[in-house]
Amino acid sequence: REQDYIRELETRIEEYNPKNSNAVFFKDLPISNATLRGLKEASFVKLTEIQKNSIPISLKGYDVLGAAKTGSGKTLAFLIPVLEKLYRENWTEFDGLGALIISPTRELAIQIYEVLLKIGSRTSFSAGLVIGGKDVKFESERISRINILIGTPGRILQHMDQAVGLNLNNLQMLVLDEADRCLDMGFKKTLDAIVNNLPISRQTLLFSATQSQSLDDLARLSLTDYKSIGTLDIV
Ligand code: ADP
Ligand code: MG
Repeated sequence: REQDYIRELETRIEEYNPKNSNAVFFKDLPISNATLRGLKEASFVKLTEIQKNSIPISLKGYDVLGAAKTGSGKTLAFLIPVLEKLYRENWTEFDGLGALIISPTRELAIQIYEVLLKIGSRTSFSAGLVIGGKDVKFESERISRINILIGTPGRILQHMDQAVGLNLNNLQMLVLDEADRCLDMGFKKTLDAIVNNLPISRQTLLFSATQSQSLDDLARLSLTDYKSIGTLDIV
């Protein structure tokens, strides 16, 4: 039955035409009941502009470069596709790391984690934070059981270099949040090193509050065949 429901969702996603979409409400999106309940319980009802423009494209499996100003709702724009991808893949706690979300600062990583706990409360995925401040070994022991990992660039690379705990072979989705800020903070090399060690077959979503040449360079390196979605004014 679950499998039938997933197939029905996949058909709805395929048939969904983002161009003449008027999905104003989350309940109009081809997403799972678990996510819909999580959204409703967190009082999210209507989509913001960047959510309206990017979520259907992300659900269809494209790589996305999303640019929209601070406060426009980019967190849900990537968390919903992450939850839905794992849901449709029948992801379980035994499948290991399915999604990696990179954020420039500890504070932002914690914010993403808190939103994920809210809207993911009706799913069975495990989520974790790696942001430094704790013993790497302590984190390593837990990391192997995590499905959705949120972390800062330096700390994630540190875990990758350790080669224990963190297994990226199965990774379905990479999210680079606040990518412009990651670049401003000097994380370019760290991001390149992380991206170069991830499976090519993954889907990647890159979000930013500004547009720049260095962001386009990062997009070219980390995204494949991507759709550029922006609600920033062209200047
Ligand atoms: P950004 O990452 O683009 O700066 P956030 O994802 O942090 O924006 O969202 C900014 C604020 O808007 C948060 O308080 C969040 O809870 C709220 N928000 C996001 N999406 C919606 C929505 N669809 N409906 C109502 N509030 C929303
Ligand atoms: Mg944000």
